[in-house]
This record gives sequence, C-alpha cells and structure tokens, in this order.
Amino acid sequence: MMSLRLPSIDGLLRHAACVPLLERYGRESLLNSLRQLLDELRPGVLNGQLSAVEISPEVLAGRVGERLAQQQRSNVRRVFNLTGTVLHTNLGRALLPDEAIEAVQMAARYPLNLEFDLASGKRGDRDDLIEGLIRELTGAEAVTVVNNNAAAVLLTLNSLGARKEGIISRGELIEIGGAFRIPDIMARAGVRLHEVGTTNRTHARDYEAAISPRSGLIMRVHASNYAIEGFTARVPTAELAELAHRHALPLLEDLGSGSLLDLTRWGLPAEPTVRQALLDGADIVTFSGDKLLGGPQAGLIVGRKELITKIKKNPLKRALRVDKLTLAALEAVLGLYRDPDRLAERLPSLRLLTRPQADIFAQASRLQPALAEALGEGWQVSAVEALGMIGSGSQPVARLPSAALCLRPHVSKRLRGRCLLNLEAALRALPIPVLGRIDDDALWLDLRQLDDEPAWLAQLPQLQVDP
Ligand SMILES: *Cc1c(COP(=O)(O)O)cnc(C)c1O
Repeated sequence: MMSLRLPSIDGLLRHAACVPLLERYGRESLLNSLRQLLDELRPGVLNGQLSAVEISPEVLAGRVGERLAQQQRSNVRRVFNLTGTVLHTNLGRALLPDEAIEAVQMAARYPLNLEFDLASGKRGDRDDLIEGLIRELTGAEAVTVVNNNAAAVLLTLNSLGARKEGIISRGELIEIGGAFRIPDIMARAGVRLHEVGTTNRTHARDYEAAISPRSGLIMRVHASNYAIEGFTARVPTAELAELAHRHALPLLEDLGSGSLLDLTRWGLPAEPTVRQALLDGADIVTFSGDKLLGGPQAGLIVGRKELITKIKKNPLKRALRVDKLTLAALEAVLGLYRDPDRLAERLPSLRLLTRPQADIFAQASRLQPALAEALGEGWQVSAVEALGMIGSGSQPVARLPSAALCLRPHVSKRLRGRCLLNLEAALRALPIPVLGRIDDDALWLDLRQLDDEPAWLAQLPQLQVDP
C-alpha cells in the first residue's frame, strides 16, 4: 500500500477550502494554525493510523477553521447572571445606564478635556469634572476619585495617618472578598492599628481611652458583609465625630457601598447615606462607584476640603487615579441622581433591585415550558418564588423577594449532585453562559436580572446535558 502524505502548506493555503479562512483571519494566523495542525498529524500519518479523508484539505481546513474561531473568541464574555445576587462582584457588579455607555463611547473615541480647563485654557484636574456633581449630591466640601473603594481607603489612611495610630473598633476589623482586610490595609498604609472595644460591643469610653499623642485618626468601617446581632453596642457616628474633634483627630468613615439617596423610598433596606455620614460629622467618607451607586468601578473620597487637599497631594494618588472612561461614565451616572423620581427607571441596578416579585414570577411562568422542553424528560422544571440578595456586601442579611426557575433531576438522591453539576456545566457552555446557583438539591435560575429574554430563549435548543 502506498503511504499517505500530508498536503503541503502552500497547496493548502491556495486550496478553495482555505480561502474564506484566509479572508477572515489573515495569512499569518492561518499559516500558524495549519503548521501546528500538520505537525500534530505527522506522526499519525507516518504510522499509517490516519485515513486519506482525515488528512484531506477539506477536513484540515475545517479543523483549522474551528481552532481559529476558538482563538478569536474574546476572553471577556457576556453572561446571564441568574444567581440571584444583583451586584455580583465576580460578574462585574453594576450595569451602566445608556447615558453612561454613550459617555464612555465619546470618551473612547475623541480627545477630551480630561485635565484641561476649557475656560482658562490652562491645565486642569480630572477630579474637577465630577466634583460639582458629587458636592451637590452629598453636601461634601471637596472630592477626589480613585480606582476603587479599596484604593480610596488605602490612600486616605496613608495620607492622614501614616506613622501614627489609627483607632478602630474590634467589631469593624472586617475582611471583604478578595483578601481586602482592614488590618492589612492599615499596615500597608503605614498606619499602626489600635483596636478598641470588643467584637460585639464598643463604647465611647473605649475610643477615649485609646487616644494619645500617637493617635492620627479614628476610623469607622461599615460592616458590609456580615451582621452583628443581639447584645451589641456601637457609638453613633455623631458622637464619635464629636469625640474625635474634641481631640483634634479626623474621623474617617468607610461606607463600603454607601448610597446617595435613602433607598427605603423604593422599598429597599435602609443603607447609610453619604450625606448623613457627613452631616453626622465624619471628616472623610469613602464609598464604591459600582455598588449601590450603580456606576463604574471607582472609589469616591469626599469630605473636608483641607483633608481632601492633603489626600490629593499624596504621590500614591497618581498611582490610584481613575481613567477617562470611568470618569465619563461616573459623571453620567451621577447626573441621573439629580432626578430621583425617574432614577429607578433609568439606573439599571436600581431598576433590577426594585423589580416586583409578581413581575419576575410571571416571567418564570412564561419561560417554564421552553426550558422544560429543552431539558426533556429527565428534569422537573418549576416556576417558584425565591429569595435573592443585593450583593457586594450591601445588606448581607436582607433578602430580595424574587422568582426562579427551579430545576430538579428525576434521579435517585445519590445521583442528584452529579446531575446538577452536569447541568450547571451545560448552561455555562452555552454561547452566552447562563449562571445560576445550586441549593437544596436543585439548580435555581433567579430571573430578576433576565432582561434579554429573546437571546436567552434563542440559545436553549443548544443546551446539551449529559445524562
Ligand atoms: C466593598 C467594600 C470595600 C472595597 O470596595 P471596592 O470598590 O470593591 O474596592 C471597602 N470597604 C467596604 C466596607 C466595602 O464594603
């Protein structure tokens, strides 16, 4: 029998089957992929393990086409967040409103006055672009913005407390996901931690007793992602501010999520507002741009002018500053807050957080038949009430009444776990991966955040669940 030979690279490049690939991906990419594939096949050809069809130009072009398509697919991918957690840190937190998306496009496409004062023609400061709005919305004297709230806390601590002691309650020495721990951040900021009180109870006299000539600041941290209940005591911010000021110390308050408006007007759990923290006497307040604010990732530092000036002079500020796209988005989002009456329609995070349960339940009932059909006999699919979360450390114990599609496999209890993991993987393998959560021997798809129903439905026929 005559031994087979692989087609030549040149021949393949000119072959009709490869022409569309050449058009689409360019010569270099196609050449590299072809070479790689031929190298992999060569031993098989020499051993006589491959058939003539398997190394035909058509088959080779098909395989290379798949590889190139795979390569070209972006690593940054859209997903359906049906986890029930609205501000999901691992899934990008807040979704931007159209106004902010347009602002980002403008800032990406054209030169802009990022650090240029158009009135005087002189050099400007990027914080000036949003300072007016933030002052208006929070009542702060001055403002500076950095990359995220972790950066805001680090920069503030380092600017105001380096080589001095930072006094903080033991009940507020928290860890936020991703290894952000208050004691570690303090150490990195060069602030010596002076912890006072106990985990559940800290009194004004505890702070008072800690104050010495070595003290640089008093810090308060919003216990975002956990709750202390029962026998507890905490000094109100107003009282703590009075105490700090009596000793000429600044009071920093890290609100974490914070909020610009009282969320109870939309039926959401109360979250401290930035304005109230400042009114209570906090000298500096820090909070995130992409948590309850509903904007881009950013850390906002607001408060007394002389302290903000000091913070802005810190060389670290330059290392932590925000980029033009973020500023453009942030300004657009903040602008929406000027019209609170329409905020819940226009700001996606608030719209999603306030979606009525009945509405979500109706959607679950509407979609149930399509999913039941896609999954087939082996699964029970039901529209049920469910409980979601705000996420991002806001209100860890509060639950949002929601609705979900609840998927249970018709198998013995022993096999259920494996079945659910298979289904989870199949949902993740869809063109737009669908992410739910496994709980109570079922997979839950919380529909609070399912906006794009047509895209979700359109890909269901591609769902392939291993038995
Ligand atoms: C979330 C949070 C942070 C970190 O904010 P990022 O914007 O995620 O960097 C800091 N402090 C508190 C209290 C938080 O809740």
